[in-house]
Amino acid sequence: MKSKLQVMKFGGTSVGDAACIARAAQIVAQAARENAVVAVVSAMSSVTNRLVDAAKHAAGGDGRAGVALIAALRQQHEDALATLVRAENARAEVAGRIEKTLAEGQRLFDGTALLRELTPRALDNISSLGERLCAPIFASAVSELGVKSVPVDATELILTDSYHGGAEPLMEPTRKRCEALLRPMLKDETVPVATGFIGATREGALTTLGRGGSDYSATILGAVLDADEVIIWTDVDGVLTADPRLVPDARIIPEISYREAAELAYFGAKVLHPKTLRAVLPAGIPVWIRNSFAPERPGTKISQEGRSIGGGVKALTAIRDVALISIGGPGIVGVPDVVGRTFSTTAELRANVLLISQSSSQNDICFIVAAADAQRTVEALRREFAQDLSHEVVDHITLDPKIAVVAVVGENMRGTRGVAGRTFAAMGRDNVNIIAIAQGSSETNISFVVEDGAMKQALLSAHREFGLGDSASNREQRAEFQDVREVT
Ligand code: ADP
Ligand code: ASP
Ligand code: MG
Repeated sequence: MKSKLQVMKFGGTSVGDAACIARAAQIVAQAARENAVVAVVSAMSSVTNRLVDAAKHAAGGDGRAGVALIAALRQQHEDALATLVRAENARAEVAGRIEKTLAEGQRLFDGTALLRELTPRALDNISSLGERLCAPIFASAVSELGVKSVPVDATELILTDSYHGGAEPLMEPTRKRCEALLRPMLKDETVPVATGFIGATREGALTTLGRGGSDYSATILGAVLDADEVIIWTDVDGVLTADPRLVPDARIIPEISYREAAELAYFGAKVLHPKTLRAVLPAGIPVWIRNSFAPERPGTKISQEGRSIGGGVKALTAIRDVALISIGGPGIVGVPDVVGRTFSTTAELRANVLLISQSSSQNDICFIVAAADAQRTVEALRREFAQDLSHEVVDHITLDPKIAVVAVVGENMRGTRGVAGRTFAAMGRDNVNIIAIAQGSSETNISFVVEDGAMKQALLSAHREFGLGDSASNREQRAEFQDVREVT
C-alpha cells in the first residue's frame, strides 16, 4: 500500500517541449515509486492562446489560421512524442490519439468558419484541444520510465454546470466518478494523467474552468480523492512577494495561508487560478507551489495555518486586465436603491466585481470589473438606469479601461498599525496617483486603483516600503525564521 496520495499538476511551461515533459515525467515517476500519484497536465505552453486566436479568426470567416495551426500542432506534438517515446506500439497508439484530436479540431474550425459564429460551447471545445493533445504524450513518457500510466480525459471525471468559459464543478458527482474511474487505477499502481482545465456537463457537453484553470482541476481532484497534498509544479520557485517579472528582487515565501494566497490569486497573481483554493479549503489539504525546473527546491506551502515571516504585509499583487466603472451625479442620493440595482445588474451578467468604493455622500459609486466584462456591464447599467439618466438624476455612467488594481496582502496586517498609512505615504513619495481605495473588513488586503502606467512603480514602492525584497536584512530575518522553524 502506498503511503500517501499526491495530486501533481504541471503547467504549460512545465510541459513546454520534450525536455520539459521528460523532466516532469521524471518527477512523477520518482514520486510514484513511493506514493499514489494523480497527474494533471496543461496544454504545452502558448497552445491554448494560439487555439483561441485561430478560433476568433475562424469566427470572422477565415479558416486558414485554423488549418495552419492544426498543421503546426501536429508537428509540435509528433516531435515531442518521437523524442520521448521509444516503444513502437505505444508511439503508434499515442500518434493515433493525436490525429483523432486534431481531426476534431479541424472540424471545429471548419464549422466555426462556415457559420461565422463562435459560441461559448464551440470555444470551449477548441480551447480544450491543447490539454487533450498533451495528456497522452505525458502518460507515455511516464510509462517509458517503468511506471504504469494512462491518460484520462477530465470530461469523464469533472462534472460541471453549463457555464461555458468558467464552469463550476459539481463536487459530489465528481467524487463518484473519480472513485469509480481513478481509484481502481491507483490501486493498480497506475498513474492517471488527467487533462487539466476541462470538465463536462451532465449531458456530456465539454466545458472549461476558465483560463489558467488547470490549477483548479488539480485541487478539485485532490479534494474528491481526499489527497494528502496537491503540488502545483510551475516555472517559479513558489509564491513570491510580487510578480518577479515586475519586481526583480521579489523573494520566495516559504509558507502562506489559504486566505493570503487566495487574495493574491484573486487580485491577479498568475501563479494560481483564483478559484484554486476553494476546492481544498473544507478538507484543509495543503497545496504546494514548486518549480519543475528545480525540483530540489522546497517551494511554498499553502495551508490553513500558513506561518508568517515577520508581521504585517506578506506580498503584493496587481491586476491590469480590469476597468473602472463609475456611476454617479448630484441627484444620485435620491435614486432608490442605486447600490442594489447596480450590483444586481453585475450579478445577472456574472461580471466579476473585484473592488467597490463609494463616497459617503453617495454621489459616486465606483467599482472594478474584469476588462472582458466591462463593456457589457456599462451597457446593462445604462439600460437599468435609462430613466434616471434621462431625468439627469444620474449624470454619468463611465468606463475607464486604463487602470490597474494593486493589492497589499497579509493576514497579520490586522494587528499591525499603519499599513495603510505607510502604503499611501510611499505612493505619495513616488508620485503615484491613487484613484480609489478599498480595504476589506478582514484586513487581509488593502487594494487601490492606479493609472495603468503607474502600476509597476506602485509595486516597486510598496515592495521597498515593506522591506519585502531580497535585502541583507531580509536574508537575516529569513535565517531567524529558519532557526525558529528548526526549533519548533
Ligand atoms: P503555469 O503555466 O505553470 O500555470 P503561470 O504562467 O500560469 O504558470 O503562472 C506562473 C507565473 O506566475 C510565474 O512565471 C510568474 O511570472 C507569475 N506570477 C505572478 N505573480 C506571482 C507571485 N506572486 N509569485 C509567483 N509567481 C507569480
Ligand atoms: N491551458 C489552459 C490555459 O492556458 C489552462 C491552464 O494552463 O491552466 O488557460
Ligand atoms: Mg497557470
